[in-house]
Amino acid sequence: MIEIKDKSMCCGCEACVNICPQNCITMKEDEEGFRYPQINKEKCINCGLCNKACPLQNEVKKSKFMTKYYAAYNKSDKILSKSSSGGMFWLLVKYILEKRGVIYGVIQDSTYNVKFTRAKTEKECISIRKSKYLQARVNDTYLKVKEDLKNNKYVLFSGTPCQVAALYKFLDKDYEKLYTVDVVCHGVPSMSVYRKYIKYIEKKYKKRVININWRDKIKGKWGPNHVTILFDDGSSVSTISLNNLFQRGFLYNIYLRPSCYKCIYAKIPRIGDLSLADFWGYDGNLKKKNKNKGISAVIVSSKKGEKAFEEIKKDTNYHSVSKEYLTLRSRHVYIHPEEYKNRNQFYRDFYNMPYEKLCKKYKLKLSLLDKQKEQINKWLITIKNKIVKIVKGRK
Ligand SMILES: Cc1cc2nc3c(=O)[nH]c(=O)nc-3n(C[C@H](O)[C@H](O)[C@H](O)COP(=O)(O)OP(=O)(O)OC[C@H]3O[C@@H](n4cnc5c(N)ncnc54)[C@H](O)[C@@H]3O)c2cc1C
Repeated sequence: MIEIKDKSMCCGCEACVNICPQNCITMKEDEEGFRYPQINKEKCINCGLCNKACPLQNEVKKSKFMTKYYAAYNKSDKILSKSSSGGMFWLLVKYILEKRGVIYGVIQDSTYNVKFTRAKTEKECISIRKSKYLQARVNDTYLKVKEDLKNNKYVLFSGTPCQVAALYKFLDKDYEKLYTVDVVCHGVPSMSVYRKYIKYIEKKYKKRVININWRDKIKGKWGPNHVTILFDDGSSVSTISLNNLFQRGFLYNIYLRPSCYKCIYAKIPRIGDLSLADFWGYDGNLKKKNKNKGISAVIVSSKKGEKAFEEIKKDTNYHSVSKEYLTLRSRHVYIHPEEYKNRNQFYRDFYNMPYEKLCKKYKLKLSLLDKQKEQINKWLITIKNKIVKIVKGRK
């Protein structure tokens, strides 16, 4: 029986909920804003399947493959503008739909509801595009995937690495027609902090928030990333991610799920057949042509992943990169985030302070002086990187 004594040992993947033959496991949110399994002990028959399916108690091992690394982006400007980074996910969607397969991915259908969905058509897949920076509800998704695979359908499952690992543990068998994509993830943020943030925004603007576009490419530009909040009167407000109070705390790892700080799937070899990331810092040949519309890092980790990439690459501009080149620019591909040292104090304050005061204390809301200091630091890092590049070029 699953018993969560150490919260860092539960990633909230819901594999246990899906596998339980008694349907006696439900997910319940804790005071930090993360969901954990709760067992109805009267119904539990102690079969142990929940422990067996847990991807943290039993790490999923990959079969050996020479991992390949690429920088790539979709040739279609239209798709690029509607995707988080290089629009590679969409090409995989088309690859599977052409085989009359089904797609499992994440949608946000209202302010608070981020969840997995099953889609059979391009139209249904549109809302799966773009990253939603909240932990998605899995519900009975793994059961549905199994059903589709048993019915001999091609399936593309895309989610965070722990969700992909959970699916493998749940299935406990290799299916030839299952393709997996993990989005390189640096963790999921707290729902209770998110709710407090939304309340603060609604009070500030005196309007109801109806949805959030976490990856808004304003005028088609990928960087810097913008977050756009949509209100019920049709208006919206956009800010750079680092100036969005909630995103800033998320990006600085202040209120991530405890298991994310110890993620065993933030590593190479990656868990999915393919992995997708933002290739921030990419400075190779594709950069000029891409015109800051979005470039993905693509990691191919299996024969199936290779087959899919070989098929879709004609619709991309791409070139291969070395592991060193990629890992130097994309840390989360191989390393989990570091735990914020004052996380416990943050949560004590969280329940006792108004949101704005909390943000000031934890530097989520910056004073003008802090903003200037941050800008100067950024410039110093850019200059340092340029000097390192010049020195390396001379050697
Ligand atoms: C929570 C989260 C954290 C991330 N952190 C990083 C990071 O630190 N560094 C980095 O380089 N990239 C990160 N990414 C990945 C990046 O944002 C893009 O998703 C990736 O580059 C794919 O872009 P695309 O243009 O090919 O696809 P898009 O068309 O944008 O497709 C988005 C894909 O993300 C999946 N997805 C969206 N929201 C969620 C969710 N909440 N949970 C699970 N899956 C979801 C969809 O199912 C879809 O497969 C993160 C993504 C998520 C969801």
